[in-house]
Amino acid sequence: MHYLVITTGSCGNCYVFHNGKDSIIIDCGITFTKLSRSLSEHGIPLDSVRALFLTHLHPDHSKGVGVVQRKLGIPVYLSDISLEMNESVMIRQKIETSGLVSYSFGEIVDVPGFSVVPFRTSHDSDGSAGYMFTSSGRRFFLMTDTGLIPDAAWELASGADVKFIESNYDEEMLERGSYPAFLKKRIRGEYGHLPNSAAVDFAKRTARHGESLYFVHLSANNNSPEVLRELCRKEIPSGIFCTVCERGGLSEGFIDGEEE
Ligand SMILES: [Zn+2]
Ligand SMILES: [Zn+2]
Repeated sequence: MHYLVITTGSCGNCYVFHNGKDSIIIDCGITFTKLSRSLSEHGIPLDSVRALFLTHLHPDHSKGVGVVQRKLGIPVYLSDISLEMNESVMIRQKIETSGLVSYSFGEIVDVPGFSVVPFRTSHDSDGSAGYMFTSSGRRFFLMTDTGLIPDAAWELASGADVKFIESNYDEEMLERGSYPAFLKKRIRGEYGHLPNSAAVDFAKRTARHGESLYFVHLSANNNSPEVLRELCRKEIPSGIFCTVCERGGLSEGFIDGEEE
């Protein structure tokens, strides 16, 4: 398995997973040009992409989706609630509803090479989702843009070989920072974003020896990769491979597949 965090943060979010034959994309908050260039630079064929899964419809996760639909003709999966509640966003972003496939939470979505379990997150975008999925006998977990850790996440995250967890802000930096009070409240709220302390605690409590752990969606203003790295050094047990994904940067990983 070969995977890329093409970019993460409020500037855009896009993840690609390739099992040697098939690929899926999670979120496309970047341009098609950037997506196709990154895939080609990292040896993932564009024509291996079978589906795109959306966490939610904020533009940093979805602004490239319409063009991806038109260029690749692949199905775009999102929750039924997200489909129902975000019509105006889709029109604005030129997302073609005919290419969308909706699922209900609790359903397993099978696409070539991947079996995907969506779960509900807590965010100010209706029907927002996180994903656990398996491919080539490996288990991946991705949870981003959530103000709270959903109950279902605990079980879905344990046993994962590779995890991507939002670690949006440092509580002190947010408190002391220059954001207006309403924005601070939104970020901290139940439907906002996850702070470093909760992300690291979740990671620590669901950790499995030998796993790879990626902290994503760091705020440019209210977080510092160095502060988060220090927290990881203190809290995350040894034997867990921790990466703090810098805002806007690319991270790449490989993990051997197993027989199904
Ligand atoms: Zn976001
Ligand atoms: Zn969001």
